[in-house]
Amino acid sequence: MRRFKTGTPARALSSSLDYDQMKRQEGDKKIVPFSFMSDNIEKDQVPCWLTYTNEETHNIIRNNFSRSALFGGQIEGIGPRYCPSIEDKVNRFPDKKRHQLFIEPEGLDTEEMYLQGMSSSLPEDVQLAFYRTIPGLENISIVRPAYAIEYDCIDPLDLRQSLEDKTIENLFCAGQFNGSSGYEEAAAQGLMAGINAVCKINGKKWFVLDRSEAYIGVLIDDLTVKGTNEPYRIMTSRAEYRLLLRQDNADERLTEKSYKIGLASEERYQKLLRTRAEFSSESARLASTFVIPSEVNDYLQTIGSAPLNNRISLAELLKRPEIHYDDLAPIDPDRKEISEHAASQLEISLKYKGYIDKQLAQVARFRKLENKRIPDDIDYHDIESLRIEAVEKLSARKPASIGQASRISGVSPADINVLMIYLEKKRRIR
Ligand SMILES: Cc1cc2nc3c(=O)[nH]c(=O)nc-3n(C[C@H](O)[C@H](O)[C@H](O)COP(=O)(O)OP(=O)(O)OC[C@H]3O[C@@H](n4cnc5c(N)ncnc54)[C@H](O)[C@@H]3O)c2cc1C
Repeated sequence: MRRFKTGTPARALSSSLDYDQMKRQEGDKKIVPFSFMSDNIEKDQVPCWLTYTNEETHNIIRNNFSRSALFGGQIEGIGPRYCPSIEDKVNRFPDKKRHQLFIEPEGLDTEEMYLQGMSSSLPEDVQLAFYRTIPGLENISIVRPAYAIEYDCIDPLDLRQSLEDKTIENLFCAGQFNGSSGYEEAAAQGLMAGINAVCKINGKKWFVLDRSEAYIGVLIDDLTVKGTNEPYRIMTSRAEYRLLLRQDNADERLTEKSYKIGLASEERYQKLLRTRAEFSSESARLASTFVIPSEVNDYLQTIGSAPLNNRISLAELLKRPEIHYDDLAPIDPDRKEISEHAASQLEISLKYKGYIDKQLAQVARFRKLENKRIPDDIDYHDIESLRIEAVEKLSARKPASIGQASRISGVSPADINVLMIYLEKKRRIR
């Protein structure tokens, strides 16, 4: 067992805040639904607000470090690196003159605002004093103060990739208990542990997603293969195949698998098949439909795109960054009506093909170098542009090879590239 900690910021009463002193932060103009079963979402959007701490805020926090449960020894667990408390930030980054905080509405029908970036375990009177130094928060009324908690969890290295415990058969574990932190992290593991528990009851093979198939695969592989010494959060930077793990193709990557194990509904599966059919017939048609300069150059000029010199396919034309699928309509008489989703997948697959192919080649090279040795006397502090987290982790674990280094939690693919370039430079100097 191990002990981790986490916290949450205060909730404030909206009417007590002065938004004139803050910067307005709009939400996305177009809301992309989370579910592929929703075509669009029509909901009012409300803005968030940005403001900053200052030296006075930091002084109050510094003067009260001894009253913080996180600092005073009452809470000793390891906290989440990616959402540190405000006292942690003031302590760890003494040179920073200010820290930003986002004031976020908790919902459309509530007066409660979430002070993003300001979790704390300081007593309520100290919290009130430092909030009041922040522009727009001078008259703040707190609905619930910030607080921190600590909790027990297991070492996820004790688990199989199916999330079954290695020593206690039939015990499937998920969520915060496995050393992760976060709603999505917990939900993803809960789903996978549930699936695998049912597979086990039915005498079926494990259902595991690999690192190239889903963020769920990256999350569970990281936890059960690399382990974690701090509350684990999934992030795009943890995935080496992140150009393949896109939200626009999540249905393409996962719906069929889900359908085959009896989870996705027939309706969802049929929707996927329709999108697939639209995608492939339309991509074949675009690749074999050609336009000639004399017929399209005037139109291209009107949409700010360079004129053609030779005839090209519509697929080639759609690769241009400024041209979107709908822009092809006036020069494409045989155009088919396809769903917005299929159109966007088509556009992404054409526009980013070069990058995706490049990444696949990088991955192949990277794999070849997995067995490359790292000298024992390497000092990671000497490597410029290696992230602090990576320097800490690599110095502590002392991996013998690039392959081992790449499996350490918190060392990202970008860090590995930096490390490989450094080793190559050293080799050439020698
Ligand atoms: C203060 C705070 C703020 C957070 N803020 C965020 C945030 O902003 N964003 C984010 O993504 N994550 C946040 N987290 C983390 C996130 O809430 C957790 O990681 C996640 O909810 C864990 O989900 P879980 O299902 O693993 O565990 P839990 O949600 O803790 O569920 C475990 C359940 O098991 C029940 N249980 C325990 N023992 C037994 C028993 N013997 N029998 C029956 N039931 C039992 C418990 O009552 C509980 O309902 C926050 C956590 C805390 C504590």
